[in-house]
Amino acid sequence: MDNAVVVGSVPAVVVSGQQLRAWEQARIDATEFRCQGCPVAMVPRAYRPTHKVQGHFSTWPGENHHDCDLVSEVASPSDSDQAGTVRCRNVVWPIRLVDDEPRKVRGRDADRQQLPPAVDRRETTRRNLPGNEGAGDATAKTVRPFALAYRDMTHEERRQTPIDLPGIDAERYQYAFKRLPQWEIQELPSGRVFHGPLRYTGEIRDEGGAFLVELHAGGEFASGRFGAPWTLVLAHSDWTPRSRALLVDEFESACHESRDKKKAAWVYALAHQDKKRPNLLHVERRSHIAFIMD
Ligand SMILES: [Zn+2]
Repeated sequence: MDNAVVVGSVPAVVVSGQQLRAWEQARIDATEFRCQGCPVAMVPRAYRPTHKVQGHFSTWPGENHHDCDLVSEVASPSDSDQAGTVRCRNVVWPIRLVDDEPRKVRGRDADRQQLPPAVDRRETTRRNLPGNEGAGDATAKTVRPFALAYRDMTHEERRQTPIDLPGIDAERYQYAFKRLPQWEIQELPSGRVFHGPLRYTGEIRDEGGAFLVELHAGGEFASGRFGAPWTLVLAHSDWTPRSRALLVDEFESACHESRDKKKAAWVYALAHQDKKRPNLLHVERRSHIAFIMD
């Protein structure tokens, strides 16, 4: 499993196994993790940088999930029309992104104040069942646990589950995420988590103080490649060398593991579109981008 809940955290804190690569060993040793769907202990795996697989969690050998909605979904019949769409589970999904540092306030944020009202302002019914205290307000520190949750949710869960991301004027998962158009560059709404497939032969370029990541989507497709691919731009001049190394590690482990398992590597990013070159998407913070296996 890719996400787990920090035991004893209220509101519940959801972390991805990959995130632990930025943690000190002593902190990992001192922290207990549990399943998002039941109390079974989760053990971090591959939590040191490796390009082979992404960080993740598993149970101890011989331990099983107890009455766990997360696992029972996986076991549901895949040929059922309802299985992928309706089921809503008692799972701790991350709801609110809590940034570590104050956000830089720029003109763009003023623009966001002018946005039309949110798509969905219904009252939220948050679930706090016994043993799951704080689950209805679960937090995470990066966009990664949200991206993994979105990937794993049914359509109905995306429709119903509340979300609170900085600069995003949508209150449900369904509206907070937007897949980038596959075959054209077009004007994008502001304030979304954009997602799309990475190039199979993906590489991350380090140019002029920024990482550049090209997607297998965009405009001017000819001869098997995009002339104007959607491209994520991450200015990294104020990052630590360790942060840069971990970003590259996350990218390469997602690409490597996806190729190995014959799946696609995807990127999810809280980004904004460049006004002059619309295929460029700027990501302001390291915590606002995630590379995952789809
Ligand atoms: Zn479980």
